[in-house]
Amino acid sequence: MNDASRAWLGLGGNIGDVEKAMAAALQRLDDDASIQVIQVSPVYKTPPWGVEDQPWFLNCCAEIATTLPPEHLLDVCQAAERAGKRERIQRWGPRTIDIDILVFEGIEQEEQRLTLPHPRICERAFVLVPLADIAPQVVLNGSTIAQLASECDQPGLEKTTAATHWWQAKG
Ligand code: ADP
Ligand code: MG
Repeated sequence: MNDASRAWLGLGGNIGDVEKAMAAALQRLDDDASIQVIQVSPVYKTPPWGVEDQPWFLNCCAEIATTLPPEHLLDVCQAAERAGKRERIQRWGPRTIDIDILVFEGIEQEEQRLTLPHPRICERAFVLVPLADIAPQVVLNGSTIAQLASECDQPGLEKTTAATHWWQAKG
C-alpha cells in the first residue's frame, strides 16, 4: 500500500465468544483493500472498568497500515462492530465487540466523533499493556507506551498464552 499510515486499534468484549468476535473483526479489517493488519498482541483477560458489575473482558491491540483517513477508518471499525452484533445499550457496559482507534500516526484532534489519540489510553491498563507488546516505542504525551504500561496499575490483568487464532493461523 502506497502512502499508508500506521494506526493502533484496541479490541475488546465480554459477551459470547469474544475471541471469535475479535478474530472476525480483524479478518474483516484485513479484507478491506485499504487496511492491512501488521501485528496483533496477545489476548488479555481483564477486569471490567467503569461499570464493575459485569463479566471480565478479553482485550487485545492491533497495528494496522491504512490508506484511509481517520474518520473513514472509524466507519470501517464501526461496521465491524455492527457485524459483531454489538448493541450500544450502556456506556462502558457489556458488549460483544468494541473497536477503538487508539493512535493514528501524525493525527491529533479533539472531536466528539473521533478524538485522537484516544483520550483514555493512559488510565486503562487493558489498553496500555497489550499495546506495549506491539508498540513499546510509540510516544504518547511525551512518554513511551512501554513506560506508561510499566507505571500503570494493572490489578488482575492476565496475559493468555497467545494472540487470536486468526493471527496465529495467518502467521
Ligand atoms: P467506549 O469505547 O468508550 O467504551 P463506545 O465504543 O460506545 O465507548 O464509543 C462511543 C463513541 O466514541 C463512538 O460513537 C465514537 O464516535 C466515539 N469516539 C471518539 N474517539 C474515538 C476513538 N479514538 N476511537 C473510537 N471511537 C471514538
Ligand atoms: Mg469504542
